[in-house]
Amino acid sequence: SPSSTVVTRFAPSPTGYLHIGGARTALFNWLYAKRHAGRFLIRIEDTDRERSTDEAVKAIFDGLSWLELFANEEPVFQFSRADRHREVVNALLETGHAYRDFTSAEETGRLRDEAKAEKRTFESPWRDREPTVDGLALPHVVRFRRPQAATVTVNDEVQGAVSWSTNDLDDLVLLRSDGAPTYNLAVVVDDHDMGVTHVIRGDDHLNNAARQSLIYDALGWTRPSFAHIPLIHGPDGAKLSKRHGAQAVHEYAEMGYLPEAMRNYLARLGWAHGDDELFSDAQAVEWFGFDGIGKAPARLDFDKLAHVNAHW
Ligand code: GLU
Repeated sequence: SPSSTVVTRFAPSPTGYLHIGGARTALFNWLYAKRHAGRFLIRIEDTDRERSTDEAVKAIFDGLSWLELFANEEPVFQFSRADRHREVVNALLETGHAYRDFTSAEETGRLRDEAKAEKRTFESPWRDREPTVDGLALPHVVRFRRPQAATVTVNDEVQGAVSWSTNDLDDLVLLRSDGAPTYNLAVVVDDHDMGVTHVIRGDDHLNNAARQSLIYDALGWTRPSFAHIPLIHGPDGAKLSKRHGAQAVHEYAEMGYLPEAMRNYLARLGWAHGDDELFSDAQAVEWFGFDGIGKAPARLDFDKLAHVNAHW
């Protein structure tokens, strides 16, 4: 039935070139959608107006085109959806799942430090306070009112069931004082509106999955499935960095690597199908699944990459 169609997405922030990690995330989303005869979408998360650039948008699309990872629909640009994000925040305000916080940035900083020193979670004094009608015109942020003393569990396809106490999470800002929506709010609204069924991304976003799940629940929306994949490390096991070698996909293109070899090698970064090293796209699509994704960081191995490239 159409309601069970798999929809995945790659949602890069256009603040730099497409790097190996991003390319691997895009590939896993592409493979999973293909495996289930679903759709693979691209969303450019350009809400950070200061750090997002047109050059980065172009570099990301160039990298994806070189890898032949094409989306099934036109890309969505997140910034263009800001009105829709604000509409959803208004709905949360109306149902009491969000509140206006008039605390100044300075005072918030002070209260945060105080809470930290006392080893408790920061709470805004406005959580339980109604603004006066005149007060509404004053600068404020909008915060999510998380349920208190509750447990939020994410049944992650890779990490298993992971739980948080909501006492340890603070009331997330949904709208900044200039009316700009924040990352966690925009992601939930966009994934919901785009019909995304599976969110596959780096495990540096696992904590965000807890926060995003609470927002889904407050809106009465069905949560997507989450699959948080371990990050890529260098050959020495340290976090991947420039000193390990080329980071950008375009550098591999310039060095003469073949896109099919890159896809083959990237598919094996954190995912395994037995001992198979060399396989076609068709085989990767046939074999790909979350059960083949390990929990430990993958290690980039340049010799292996060269070996795979030589085969193609
Ligand atoms: N834009 C985020 C990033 O580049 C990814 C968000 C997501 O996949 O949910 O890290």
